[in-house]
Amino acid sequence: ALTAGIVGLPNVGKSTLFNAITKAGAEMANYPFATIDPNVGMVEVPDARLDRIQEIIPAKKNVHTTFEFTDIAGIVKGASKGEGLGNKFLENIRQVDAIVHVVRAFDDDNITTVSGKVDPIEDIQTINMELILADLESIDKRLAKTQRAAKGRDKDALAELEVLEKIKPVLEAGKSARTIEFDESEQPIVKGLFLLTAKPILYVANIAEDDMADPEASKYFKLIKDYVANEDPDAEVLGISAESEQEIAELEDDEKAEFLEAEGITEPGLNRLIRASYHLLGLQTFFTAGGKETRAWTFKKGMTAPQTAGVIHSDFERGFIRAETVSFDDLDKNGSMQAVKEAGRLRLEGKDYLVQDGDIIEFRFNV
Ligand code: GDP
Repeated sequence: ALTAGIVGLPNVGKSTLFNAITKAGAEMANYPFATIDPNVGMVEVPDARLDRIQEIIPAKKNVHTTFEFTDIAGIVKGASKGEGLGNKFLENIRQVDAIVHVVRAFDDDNITTVSGKVDPIEDIQTINMELILADLESIDKRLAKTQRAAKGRDKDALAELEVLEKIKPVLEAGKSARTIEFDESEQPIVKGLFLLTAKPILYVANIAEDDMADPEASKYFKLIKDYVANEDPDAEVLGISAESEQEIAELEDDEKAEFLEAEGITEPGLNRLIRASYHLLGLQTFFTAGGKETRAWTFKKGMTAPQTAGVIHSDFERGFIRAETVSFDDLDKNGSMQAVKEAGRLRLEGKDYLVQDGDIIEFRFNV
C-alpha cells in the first residue's frame, strides 16, 4: 500500500501526531492491526458518502477504506552526511511515497527546540536542505555514469543527461526537484532517479490549541503558508494542533462531538490530514454496495475498470466482463437504484473505462 511518511525536527510534535493517528486507528472496527509494523499507523479514510449509499442501498454495515502513515524518526542537521541516524533516516524517506512534514508553530517555553527558538521557516529549510544535499549526491553519482554512456551517443543516456542537468542547478539553488516542471517524456526518467525532493509533500503546522478553529490567526501558520507558496508552490499547508488531536482521538463519540463543538470545529483536524495525504498520493475511492456491506475501496487515479476490480480480488480482474457503474452524485440525486436506471444513469463500462472517484460499481466477471 502507498504510505505517507511523517518527518520533522525533534520536539515539533511528530510523535504526538502519530499517537493521534494510531489511537484513531485503534477505533476501527474492521481491522485487526496487531500484525502491522509499530512505525505504521493505519487509519480509516473519512468519507460521508458511505453513509448516504448505505441509506439508499441498505446493508448491514459499511466499511471505510484505509490509509497508512509511517513514522520516520530521527532527522538532525547533517543527516545527509550520515550524522545521527542520518543514513537510516534518508533510507526510510526513500521508501515512502509522500512526505508529511511537521513544523512547530506553537509557543511553549517548556518545550525546547533544536535551534533554541520557534522558527518554522528555518525548520523547513533545515530538513529540506538535508534532502536536497542527499539528492545532489545521487545526481552527481549518476551524472558521472551517464556522461560516460552519453559519449557513446546512447539515446537513453542523452535523454537522462538532459534531465540530470536540468535538476542539478535547481538543487544547487536550494530548491526541491518537485518544483521543476517535467514534460511527459522526462517524467519516467525523473521517477527512476528516486529523488527525495521529488516526492509530493504536505506541510503540517502544529499550531496552538487556541488557533484550532482558525489556523490563519496563527502568525506561524501564516509565515509557513507564505513561505511554501513561494518556495514549494504545489504543496499544501494544514494547521493542526497535534496535542488536541491526540486528546480527541481518545474520546468516545459523544464526548468527541462535544469537544469539537466547544473548539468551534466540525471535524477533527486528523480527518483533514488523512484526506489531504490520500489526495497527495493520487488516491481515489470507489464503492461497492448491495449484499452484506457497503464498502469503500482505494484505487490510484487513472486505473481502468479491470485494474480496480483487481483491488477487490485478482479473480475479478482476470475474469472481468464489465462494470455496472453509477456515480455517487447520480445515486444521491435519484435516491434509489430503480430511479437511477429509469433516468438512464446506470452505465455498462468495459475494460478500457477509467474509473472515477465516487463510482459505485458492480463488477461482472467470469470465474
Ligand atoms: P517529536 O520529537 O517531534 O516527536 O515531538 P513530540 O510529539 O514528542 O512533542 C514534543 C513535546 O511537545 C511533547 O512534550 C509534547 O507534549 C509537546 N507538544 C506536542 N504538540 C504540542 C502542541 O500542539 N502544543 C503544545 N503546547 N505542546 C505540544
